[in-house]
Amino acid sequence: MQVKAPRGTYDILPDQVHKWHYIEEVLKGTAELYGYREVRTPIFEHTELFERGVGESTDIVTKEMYTFSDKSKRSLTLRPEGTASCARAIIEHSLYNGLLPVKWYYTGPMFRYDRPQTGRYRQFHQFGVEAFGSTSPYLDAEVILLLVEILNRLGLSEFELHLNSVGCPSCREEYRHKLIQHITPVKDGLCKDCQVRYQQNPLRVLDCKVATCHEAITGYPTLSEYLCGECRDHYAIVRETLEQNGVKYIHDDNLVRGLDYYTKTAFEVHIPDIGAQSAIGGGGRYDGLVRDCGGPDLPGIGFALGIERLLLAVESLKSSCVRPVGIEAFVTVMDDKYELQAARLVNELRQAGIRTDKDYSGKSARAQMKYAAKLGAYLTLFVGDEEINGDFITIRDMQSKKQEQVARDHITDHVKLLLQNY
Ligand code: AMP
Repeated sequence: MQVKAPRGTYDILPDQVHKWHYIEEVLKGTAELYGYREVRTPIFEHTELFERGVGESTDIVTKEMYTFSDKSKRSLTLRPEGTASCARAIIEHSLYNGLLPVKWYYTGPMFRYDRPQTGRYRQFHQFGVEAFGSTSPYLDAEVILLLVEILNRLGLSEFELHLNSVGCPSCREEYRHKLIQHITPVKDGLCKDCQVRYQQNPLRVLDCKVATCHEAITGYPTLSEYLCGECRDHYAIVRETLEQNGVKYIHDDNLVRGLDYYTKTAFEVHIPDIGAQSAIGGGGRYDGLVRDCGGPDLPGIGFALGIERLLLAVESLKSSCVRPVGIEAFVTVMDDKYELQAARLVNELRQAGIRTDKDYSGKSARAQMKYAAKLGAYLTLFVGDEEINGDFITIRDMQSKKQEQVARDHITDHVKLLLQNY
């Protein structure tokens, strides 16, 4: 039987990978512009880290983790998200004693066991930023401005930014009671998951993807009414800073996000054009996370963007800046006996930084030309009797079909000059 890639995973083939490079460059370039530096953490961690850092009542932990025992019977989990790993690394390397805030970004594969569909995979890729060590609301605004700048640079200006404050443990406690009181009489109308979790974490009902849950709790009290003074002021500064920087947002009382560690600011970005899975990223403040992971009381804020969904959005724009990287020059060998000279020429061009290729399957000169065209070469360089005897190379511009003879000694400089037109 043919072995295929596991369900929910896929290959990124070379004719698609340029789009990834383009998006990754924009992501990294923008993050670095804002003073964030890259961190790379392991793909798998101790299961306990995600149980603590993501929250035991979340869908991610209860249903979606790829957990396995290794040969020493340790329980390990393929990372479902990046924030908990960053918190662990901060604690492990005692970075809370150093320069604060620690401003990091990461990018790479994440793993969640969910029903695959367009825009939802079991191995998917996220880009995220995290800033640890400051409670300033201006930092919340910076992180959101960074997210907005990324979208603008990708040409995705048609997004919706949803914003809310989920309060702090003290104001949330009162709200929790009010919400439980509101939900209890109508609990039979909730989905099975919410019937179980509403007592422990009623905010999850607001976050539930099942539409009937929202209908059942209609008229529910909103968290904004219960924010304490500090959370209210914090939220006001975040909103004011965004407004002053021309960022439009929608205050969204339903936005509570699925993870337990969020405090105060929560946000999510949607691009309605990309279909059912329109959330391309989200984040928020998580002042309790580092402590929950066994570290000191170190506040934090961050977000994660799904790269697959960014890609869907960028593709729907048919963005002209996304071009595959092909070869620039192709060396056509007119006769087998000149293979050695052709190999030298190819090597010389490559060493001069020119993306060059040749044929390795004994094609005729005509077939090599077709091959060069398929590879997208701008120039073809011929090595045949005439060229070897006359110590020159014939160069053909594949677009204009013009040919010229160039002295062998000047070839790389001349090719570079011609490539400036492309
Ligand atoms: P989350 O960590 O759940 O807040 O997700 C942040 C972003 O990651 C989402 O907005 C999506 O763009 C992306 N994402 C999350 N889960 C998946 C998935 N299973 N497949 C593809 N993208 C995902």
